Amino acid sequence: MRKKIVAGNWKMHKNAGQTQELLDELIAKIPAQTTAQVIVAPTFVNLQAAVAKVKNTTIGVSAQNVHQAEGGAFTGEISAEMLTSIGVNTVILGHSERRAIFHESDALIASKVDTALTHDMTVIFCFGEELKDRQSGNHFNIVENQLRDGIFHIAKESWSKVVLAYEPVWAIGTGETASPEQAQEMHEFIRETIRKAFGNDIADEVSILYGGSVKPDNAKEIFSKPDVDGGLIGGAALKADDFLAIVTAI
Ligand code: PGA
Repeated sequence: MRKKIVAGNWKMHKNAGQTQELLDELIAKIPAQTTAQVIVAPTFVNLQAAVAKVKNTTIGVSAQNVHQAEGGAFTGEISAEMLTSIGVNTVILGHSERRAIFHESDALIASKVDTALTHDMTVIFCFGEELKDRQSGNHFNIVENQLRDGIFHIAKESWSKVVLAYEPVWAIGTGETASPEQAQEMHEFIRETIRKAFGNDIADEVSILYGGSVKPDNAKEIFSKPDVDGGLIGGAALKADDFLAIVTAI
């Protein structure tokens, strides 16, 4: 059985007090037993407090980024070892905002993947096409290349530490969601691409999340698709009731 996961990417939202408040609400409202594994990704400065807060709950904490180097003269950066030293063992990599705004290339993302895996972290690997790619019918190629260049170099054994998140860029923060059929079509393609490269066990076991304007009113339909194993949620993860509704839509 594939793991179902709902992860909230808080991006650059929520100060220290707001982080505590949202977590308090989530802890109070999210049932102790959920079908989905629930993960939240606050900003770096609030990770340590978040880890302390969710202790003894089923909620996991993820970072939104990591530097590829082990350490050294990299002003303003955070290493994998620093994250694991405070109990953060999951990291989101390859998010379209990192790719577009911070110019992260597939090669850079690939080296961040390696660093995270070396530290036994779980990687939530994000990828997805832009609107122009979909309009020109090139979306399957783009997605395949992002997978090949960003993550297909890892060892077979490492796939147990990888969660994939397909996020069409045109659907992120735009209110425009891929239709459940578009999501399923792409997720199936992703799984078959992995099957060809790594075999049935890995293809059948890897969780593939959908991200891009998932909301309480569309989550159920998207999650009902056979190759959609959960969601990576941005805007709707910032309100406890919305996030709860999405978590329980699985
Ligand atoms: P959104 O963001 O849900 O606000 O579209 C998703 C994401 O960026 O992970």
